[in-house]
Amino acid sequence: MATTHKTRMLIIGSGPAGLTAAIYGARAGMEPIVVQGLQPGGQLTITTDVENYPGFRDVIQGPWLMQEMQAQAEHVGTRMIWDTITDIDLSGPPFRATADSGDVFEADTLVIATGAQAKWLGVPGEQLLSGKGVSACATCDGFFYRGKKVVVIGGGNTAVEEALYLTNHAEHVTLIHRRDSLRAERILQQRLHADPKISVLWNKAVAAFAGDPLAGGLKAVELVDTVTGEGSRVETDGAFVAIGHAPATSLFAGKLELDESGYIVVQPGTPKTAIPGVFACGDVMDHTYRQAVTAAGTGCMAALDAERFVAELDFATAQLTQA
Ligand code: FAD
Ligand code: NAP
Repeated sequence: MATTHKTRMLIIGSGPAGLTAAIYGARAGMEPIVVQGLQPGGQLTITTDVENYPGFRDVIQGPWLMQEMQAQAEHVGTRMIWDTITDIDLSGPPFRATADSGDVFEADTLVIATGAQAKWLGVPGEQLLSGKGVSACATCDGFFYRGKKVVVIGGGNTAVEEALYLTNHAEHVTLIHRRDSLRAERILQQRLHADPKISVLWNKAVAAFAGDPLAGGLKAVELVDTVTGEGSRVETDGAFVAIGHAPATSLFAGKLELDESGYIVVQPGTPKTAIPGVFACGDVMDHTYRQAVTAAGTGCMAALDAERFVAELDFATAQLTQA
């Protein structure tokens, strides 16, 4: 039977942003509820080595980090619920969220931490070799390709920035783009073309990633010329798919302001949306940095602002009662 859960603070999403908001919210006595969604622990649960999350001298595993974060959130008083929010009413407070199970959550304040997902090409070998040579994050995985050859797929700002970043590690970077011109900003294009470590393959679409996940991982990318239809193959140690990200915001369309790429718009430098009491943190509001530590940082900010909002709400309610 469907249940109505009442809470001071509802957090949608259980990645680094949501769990950090939960840790702060719980320690402030808000007894938060986290609705975890289809990917408990978020994006880091689909990677292996994490080397840039502060506090760990040695390489740690993404799934382990997220288990620890959840355990910490629960330890200080967070309730985790395995469900997915399918409908939201932001006319509160209280804000009302309906879950896939039929359960309803009523909250004085809402923290949205639904993240974003890298877009993938959907070609053979991509999923199989993900984390074994195929990646969607140069900042995360570039370090593992020191002195090696890598390719980057895409033609936007992200692809060009990833290619430029990868020259810090890799011996050579090949940018593969399906057309004969890039959509990246001119200044980035100039830097790309001026870099002797980067070459560009125009009019090429990736048809498949070749390699064995159990024997050395990715070996090559199979290409098709988008003009002539001719096939070719590029041997490589790593492939970075950089064709954009999709923030998980369909739930909020028409209810919160979204930018042209679908990210939640917040007041600059804050996690505040246009609706008082509704906060957004992590990758769902950040198309620039998209790191676990920045997600955690904005999760902290959202919880601190949520706490202030609830205190003001309590004060106003007390005044009304007195009057
Ligand atoms: P996410 O981690 O995306 O979590 C979103 C959460 O929202 C999930 O729990 C999901 O289930 C939930 N959710 C979504 N919709 C709903 C809904 N309707 N109802 C309820 N819940 C919902 N960053 C680093 O700093 N270092 C790295 O080494 C690194 N490696 C990476 C490797 C890979 C393969 C990938 C994909 C990313 C990597 N990143 C890395 C980036 C990092 O994972 C993200 O920046 C970070 O996870 C963003 O955290 P988040 O909490 O904003 O969102
Ligand atoms: P984007 O601008 O949408 O570019 C995606 C690129 O991937 C395009 O070149 C596109 O090709 C290609 N692509 C898409 N699907 C593909 C597929 N299936 N196969 C092959 N190629 C495919 O995405 P983005 O680069 O991630 O940028 C997203 C937004 O963030 C943009 O607004 C961007 O300006 C912004 N951003 C800004 C900065 C910055 O200011 N420094 C950095 C990163 C991102 P086509 O060109 O042929 O469509």
